[in-house]
Amino acid sequence: MNLTLHLTDNCNMDCSYCLRDKCSRDMTPEVLRKACDLAFSKGGRAGLCFFGGEPLLRKDLIYEALDYCEKKSAETGIPFNCKMTTNGTLLDEEFLKKAKEVKMGIGLSFDGKGQDISRRFPDGSSTASLIEEKAKMLLSYRPHALAMLTLDPKAAGLLSESVKYLVDVGFQNISTVPAYGKKVNWTDEDMEVLRGELNKVADFLRDEFMKGRYIYVAPLISKIKECVAGKNPAEHCHLGVRQMPVTPDGKLFPCTSFINDDDYYMGNVFDGIDNERVAEIAKRSNTPETCVDCDLKTRCTNSCGCANRMNTGSENKVSPLQCTYERMIIEIADRLGEELFNYDQKLFAKYFVKEP
Ligand code: SF4
Ligand code: SF4
Repeated sequence: MNLTLHLTDNCNMDCSYCLRDKCSRDMTPEVLRKACDLAFSKGGRAGLCFFGGEPLLRKDLIYEALDYCEKKSAETGIPFNCKMTTNGTLLDEEFLKKAKEVKMGIGLSFDGKGQDISRRFPDGSSTASLIEEKAKMLLSYRPHALAMLTLDPKAAGLLSESVKYLVDVGFQNISTVPAYGKKVNWTDEDMEVLRGELNKVADFLRDEFMKGRYIYVAPLISKIKECVAGKNPAEHCHLGVRQMPVTPDGKLFPCTSFINDDDYYMGNVFDGIDNERVAEIAKRSNTPETCVDCDLKTRCTNSCGCANRMNTGSENKVSPLQCTYERMIIEIADRLGEELFNYDQKLFAKYFVKEP
C-alpha cells in the first residue's frame, strides 16, 4: 500500500499561502519503521511518499526508511517505490545520488516567476535564485522531476511566463494549482487574469507541440488525457484508500488536509488500519448535490474531498471558485486538444492515446 510519511511538522520556509501549522514535531524512528511495515503488509506493492513540513529537514529518516524498505523488499519480493515533495532548499548532490539509485520521484515546489511573491524564508529573504540553482541540480539527476507551481492570486498574471521559465530551466513535467484556503482571496478580476494566462499557456504548449516538443502541464494536458481515455477525474479522490498520510506520531488519516481531525481518524501504525472507519468515511464521498445535473460532472474534480473541505468546510460541497476554475480548465483543455488533434493526428495519438 501507499503511505505519505509526514516526517516533520517543521519547515525552513514561510510561504504566504502555507496551510500547515508548523511546529517542531518529528517522526520517531520507531513510528517510521512501523509505517514501513504497514506499507509492506498488504502485499502487492509498497510505496512511500516523503512529505512534511519540509522532509529534507530529516534526511536521516529518509535514508533510514530507504535502507529498511530495500531490505524488506529483498526479503519479501514485494516491489518498493518512493517519491518526495520538497521545497528544494536542502537538496544536495549526496542525496540526489541516492534518489537516482532508488529511482525516487521528486516533486519540487517552485512557483517560477512568482517564487518570491509567496515563497520566502522566515526572515523575508528571497529563495528564487537558490531554488533555480537547486532545480538545475535536481534535473541533472532526475530529469523527469515535477515542478509544482502553486498559483497565488497575486501572481496570476505571471502564470504563462512562469511555465515558460520552468521549461527553460529544464522541466518537462509541470503541475499548476491555485492556492486555496483562508490565507488567499481570489477575486473575479483575478480569475479573469487567470483565464487569459491559461489560454497563453495552451498557446505555448500548442506551438511547442508543432515544433515536435511535448511538455506536460497539468491540469491542461491531464484533462485532455482523461477525456481521451474516458476517465472520470472525480475518481482521483479515494479518501485515503490509495495514499494514506501518516502523522509524525503514527496516526492515519484519509488525506493531508484532514490530518489531526478526530472525525477522520483511521487508525495508527501500531494497531493498524480501522477498516470499518475507512469504509464509513469512503461512503461519505458523493457527487456534490450542486453537480448532480451538470454536464461536466464526469470531467470535473468536484469530488476532491480535500479541496472541497478546504474551501467550503464540507467534503461534498464545491466552492464557486473551484467550479469556475474547473469550467475554465475544461474549456481551454478542449480547445487545446482539438488544435493538437487537427494539427497531426498521429502525433496526437502518440502522446494522448494509451496503447491497450
Ligand atoms: S515549503 Fe511547504 S510546508 Fe514549508 S512553508 Fe512553504 S508551503 Fe508550507
Ligand atoms: S463544473 Fe461546477 S457544477 Fe459542474 S460538476 Fe464541476 S463543480 Fe460541479
